Amino acid sequence: MRERRENSKGVILRNRAPFDPAQPTAYIAAMGLRSILILPDQRLRLVSDPVQTLDAETKKLIDDMFETMYDAPGIGLAAIQVGVAKRIVTLDLAKKDEKPDPQVFINPELIWTSSEKAKYEEGCLSIPEYYEEVERPARVKVKYLDIDLKPREVEASGLLATCLQHEIDHTNGVLFIDHISKLKRDRVIKKFIKAAKQAGGAKPGHPHPAAKARSHVV
Ligand code: ZN
Repeated sequence: MRERRENSKGVILRNRAPFDPAQPTAYIAAMGLRSILILPDQRLRLVSDPVQTLDAETKKLIDDMFETMYDAPGIGLAAIQVGVAKRIVTLDLAKKDEKPDPQVFINPELIWTSSEKAKYEEGCLSIPEYYEEVERPARVKVKYLDIDLKPREVEASGLLATCLQHEIDHTNGVLFIDHISKLKRDRVIKKFIKAAKQAGGAKPGHPHPAAKARSHVV
């Protein structure tokens, strides 16, 4: 997830990296930056698989997800956004002047949501430069596995509740634009399909071979 922040100078995006910004780009690249899938990439609609074991490959993936998230910059990332259909979410909600607070949620699952709702302006690293207010449950309980695959539970409100719901949605092939009006959603999808065609890279409408994509989302 990406957060838009306003200040007196206008809109700014959080830009805080865990590594020394003075380091050359080649060093950063070596750390494992991965490219982020952009709408309308159909892999974003995949339902990710649960993580069973934390092998070297998965640990590397988590490291790379943090690097990619901080570099973007974003405050949350799901593995499918870097093209890996595993139920892994990384978050860091620390404020710009606070020390980094990297958190990883493996196989996160909503086990309770409040009937009380909250609105938050959301953005997504897979839908760059688009922000829209989304209404979601204000408080949630999430169960997940930590980095040692120990079962944990967290009760969240505010930004954490929003981010967890946004990222858990990703693990189920759901995007935040699925929670806005059809008119607005169709408009943004159309815009990104057009941009992808112009760029000539992405192939909208070509489902991933392993697609367990949701054909319909709410
Ligand atoms: Zn997102």
